[in-house]
Parts: sequence; structure tokens; C-alpha cells
Amino acid sequence: MRKQIAAANWKMNLTYQQGEKLLDDILKAKHQLKDHQQVIFAVPFPYLIMANSVVANEKNFSVAAQNCYHKKSGAYTGEVAAEMLHSIGIRYCVIGHSERREYFSESNQDLADKLNLLLENGITPIFCCGEPLAIREAGTQNSYVEVQLKESLFHLGAEQVKGIIIAYEPIWAIGTGKTASSAQAQEMHAHLRKVLADQYGDAVANEVSILYGGSVKAANAAEIFGQPDVDGGLVGGASLLAEEFSTIIASLK
Ligand code: PEP
Repeated sequence: MRKQIAAANWKMNLTYQQGEKLLDDILKAKHQLKDHQQVIFAVPFPYLIMANSVVANEKNFSVAAQNCYHKKSGAYTGEVAAEMLHSIGIRYCVIGHSERREYFSESNQDLADKLNLLLENGITPIFCCGEPLAIREAGTQNSYVEVQLKESLFHLGAEQVKGIIIAYEPIWAIGTGKTASSAQAQEMHAHLRKVLADQYGDAVANEVSILYGGSVKAANAAEIFGQPDVDGGLVGGASLLAEEFSTIIASLK
């Protein structure tokens, strides 16, 4: 079975102490993850080492950075390189979140460069894609998201693509309380898998975990994750609440 993943995106929330407590509260629930299930906490940079040590002895719990820079190293004050993440034992990194694309003008080419750097450093990218409301209303979401994949991913070989996690996050559903219906999520996930299959073949496409993100919460996680091409979720707001996120973890297939 493909990896089923509950990924928490804390964004720029919580103090260090609040973050420690949240992790502690979630781990107290003693989730018994199956071999194909994974929980990932994407925490702010200053909390990465702490979070990594808190989950170190927990089966299938990991930590992700929320971003990295698209250059290897050098005079880029304030930025964090993939190699730095590797050097502190980080194994996952979210890239291309719509907030980064919008507020920090990240292009598909920047993301292609980030993917290369992460893979060179043995870090699994969690690559976000998704359309804004106007595109959804125009009905052109499939081709919009397809271009995001093509321009950022398609220079990679099949083996590399197998090592990527994709998160489909319709922008109109992020932080809005407006979730895509499970049918809308399934339709897009199936489309993304077909785009991967056309380029890399069915075997590769069937190995890539595709997460849904956009107002996932305890009350809707099981239905969304139950769709055949949805392999878990990338969760913002609800990941800041221990009980909510614990239920989301328990909703993984
Ligand atoms: C996100 O930040 O990736 C996200 C999906 O946020 P929310 O769950 O709050 O919509």
C-alpha cells in the first residue's frame, strides 16, 4: 500500500514552549501507526531540532521544514539551505506552499531548483500545488495544476519522482473552512496520478503519495482520506489542536 500520511503544517504559529506541549499532547495519545502510515510535523525552523528529538523514538513520526532556499549556499541572508536541514537530521521539507508562492513570489522554476537540492541532500520534498478560486470557477484547474507539476517536477527521473510526496491544496480551501468535497479531491488526485503516469508510467504514479490539503479537520478527514487516490492530508489550522490532529491521524487508511 502507498504511504498514508498526516502532515501538520504549523505555519508561523506557536511559541517554542507551546510547540513542545502540542507535540507532547499528541504523542500522549499513543498512536500505533501501521508500517504504511506516517505522521510528519512541519514546524518553524527554530523548533526543528527540538521536534526531531521529541519524535526520535516514535515509530513513523518525523519532522519537516516548511521551506528551504533554492540556492545551495552563499550570501543569502536569512535563508536556510537544504544542506543545513540535512546536517541537523531533517528528512522532509514542504516546498511550494501557496502562501510561499503568493507572498514570496516563488516560481515553478525556483521549486524545480529546490527539489533538486532537497533530493541531493536525501530529503523528501512535500511538493504543494493547487489552483486559486478564479481558476476553479473557470473550470481550468486540471491544466493549471498540471503545469505546476510539469514545470517543477518533470526534469526529474522516475526514481527521483518516486521519492516525492505531492500535496494538492486548492487555494480557495486553505484556511477558509471551505473544504473541497471528497469527490472534488478524488477527481483532482486521480488527474494528478494520470499526469504522473503519462510521464513516468503507472508503476511510478502508483507509488507517489498524494495528500489533500485545505480545511481538513477531525470531522471530515475520514471521508476525504477514504478516497482511493487520497493518501492522507497536509493540515494547517486543525494541526494546532492536539485532539483534532489525533483524530486526523486516526483517520488515515
Ligand atoms: C495548509 O496550510 O497547508 C492548510 C491546508 O491549511 P488549513 O488546513 O488551515 O486549510
